[in-house]
Amino acid sequence: MSNEIILEIRSLKKYFTAGKAGWFSRRQRFVHAVDGVDLQLHRGEVIALVGESGCGKSTLALTLMLLEEATEGSILFEGKDITHAAPQERKAIRQRIQMVFQDPYESLNPTQTIEEIVSEPLTVHGLTPNANERRERVIRALEDAGLKPAADYLHRFPHQLSGGQRQRVVIAGALVLEPHILLADEPVSMLDVSIRAEIINLLADLRRARGISVIFITHDLGTVGYFADRVAVMYLGRIVEIGATREVLQAPQHPYTQALLSVIPVPNPRLRRKRIILQGETPNPIELPSGCRFHPRCPLAVEACRRTDPSLINVSETHQAACILLRQ
Ligand code: SF4
Repeated sequence: MSNEIILEIRSLKKYFTAGKAGWFSRRQRFVHAVDGVDLQLHRGEVIALVGESGCGKSTLALTLMLLEEATEGSILFEGKDITHAAPQERKAIRQRIQMVFQDPYESLNPTQTIEEIVSEPLTVHGLTPNANERRERVIRALEDAGLKPAADYLHRFPHQLSGGQRQRVVIAGALVLEPHILLADEPVSMLDVSIRAEIINLLADLRRARGISVIFITHDLGTVGYFADRVAVMYLGRIVEIGATREVLQAPQHPYTQALLSVIPVPNPRLRRKRIILQGETPNPIELPSGCRFHPRCPLAVEACRRTDPSLINVSETHQAACILLRQ
């Protein structure tokens, strides 16, 4: 991993309109899907973005891909502000920032051969009109994605492949454009447990071999320890904790991260943590809780957490030590 920052997100917000507050109300309501995210990704770095479904991590990825328009804040890619890039620039940016979607069963066209699927992004981006060169790039992408020898796969259809092989085809479709960043949105959640490690190892190999930066989006903290350099934990549109993977996994500082980690199965009974079961559901992202937005579910909440921004709460040292937000 280099020190060069390849992607920088500054105070990024993405709100969706959600209608008026009532029949006679003029107040417009919003879904606060992404609500002030700051993040820096280095060249060759893997960041795991973790949180429950509905926390805003997939919307954040779509906004970074410029498939959703940011409401506020900015996105800098290789030093250039791309937040509101013109349509013709977006195509070139998407060539460099590629997304791997969750469902390999849905994201492949069943009527196309593997060669047609993987070469399609080259056609869309108007690259390599020469057929031989195009085939060479498809073969290289398939082999880098672990489908070797590629010649055995070129003429097959998706239904002739296993789930793991299909996800490798999806990854090959992203690699063929030689991206600098991969946004992998729950890339293993639809796969059998036995092949999840294979796909995670593949992403780790790609980072080593091609120097690709990866944002690995997952709801499962248990899958990130293998290869992520840093972990960012999201809750209700914000990153509530970020740090080196080992530090976050061994000494989580936010009560939400502590709860997520406590329910991960651990084979060694001596290393098991006390399970923390959070009360209630994730609050409605339209009507956000006052004060700390985690307070309705936080086992450590004090009265002040309900009213005041956590960074302004004055509590005892013991309580401060238990919650990262109270120390900021
Ligand atoms: Fe819990 Fe209060 Fe910390 Fe929020 S600020 S996470 S409610 S202890």
